[in-house]
Amino acid sequence: MKAFKFTKLLAIGLTATMLFAGCSSTSQKATESGSKGDETKPEYVNLYTDRHYDSDDSLYNAFTQKTGIKVNIVKGKSDELIERLKTEGADTEADLFITADAGRLHRAKSSSLLQPVDSQILKANIPENLRDSENYWFGFTKRARVIVYAKDRINPAELSTYENLTNPKWKGKILVRGSDSIYNQSLLASFIEIMGEENAKKWAAGIVANMARAPKGGDRDQAKAIAAGEGDIAIMNTYYFGLMLNSSDPEEKKVTEKLAVFFPDQDGSGTHINVSGGGVVKDAKNKENAIKLLEFLAGEKAQKSYAEANYEYPVLKSVDSSDLLKSWGSFKEQSVSLSKLGELNEKAVKILNEVGWK
Ligand code: FE
Repeated sequence: MKAFKFTKLLAIGLTATMLFAGCSSTSQKATESGSKGDETKPEYVNLYTDRHYDSDDSLYNAFTQKTGIKVNIVKGKSDELIERLKTEGADTEADLFITADAGRLHRAKSSSLLQPVDSQILKANIPENLRDSENYWFGFTKRARVIVYAKDRINPAELSTYENLTNPKWKGKILVRGSDSIYNQSLLASFIEIMGEENAKKWAAGIVANMARAPKGGDRDQAKAIAAGEGDIAIMNTYYFGLMLNSSDPEEKKVTEKLAVFFPDQDGSGTHINVSGGGVVKDAKNKENAIKLLEFLAGEKAQKSYAEANYEYPVLKSVDSSDLLKSWGSFKEQSVSLSKLGELNEKAVKILNEVGWK
């Protein structure tokens, strides 16, 4: 996710606080003007989210239009929001927590910040491996962690698996962000599940040995580094490549002209996938509204929006990917249950430290 400015959090936090306060004063007015017991309390849901896309705000507006339920939003970095939820405890105003990566969703669950939800709609719309095994969180957009390569220097016939990237022939050519990235932690966690701890450690060590430079920056910076000639192959999430291709920044767009996407492990366990998702906060005061919003996000309208506006893969089978994603071709996905990524996160972090992945 994009770097977040604290001032923005504060500003949005204040706005949200004012909105929350506004709700109670409106409800007071409703009580004053009506007789007791027939009070028309405005419906709302309070959302903590680390997503930062304008298209998400449009979706929340569409939800309000459809249901009459107002969405009050607090945006922030995922770990900051998790800390905030811990600090606020039972007093929290938050009803729904949304974040990227199953590893983080699991972190919220294991910190006792979420509660299980029994929803037929969520179960029907979201494949089993993309939601928590005990229904504490639900993935509603999918992304793949793929290989992006320099078209003028790499023959795609030489690419195959994630493991192949550890071949000494790629020494000094691999670009990937740091070990503090949950995306890399979850990628490695998937390998622990698929090939066992020892082999996963060999993989991580092999990548470190082949790195073009000490890891820095986000996924987009790895693509930019290929274009700048610092390396030839990057590991990155699909939506970042889609966003760069359609960027309003001509420089970013130019970078992508030199690059192409490759889906690894198509003859084996499949390309690594992960989700953005959400869970109902343990002490939610508006639990039913939070569930309604989750169900809306897993529904057709929202799924189409994620696919078109943000180049994410829909989780709902009846909704098509965007034309751009379709142009990259369909691919075999890892079938690992994303709950496992969270459960194995600690082991993954330990391995990354042990092999010296900065
Ligand atoms: Fe991201």
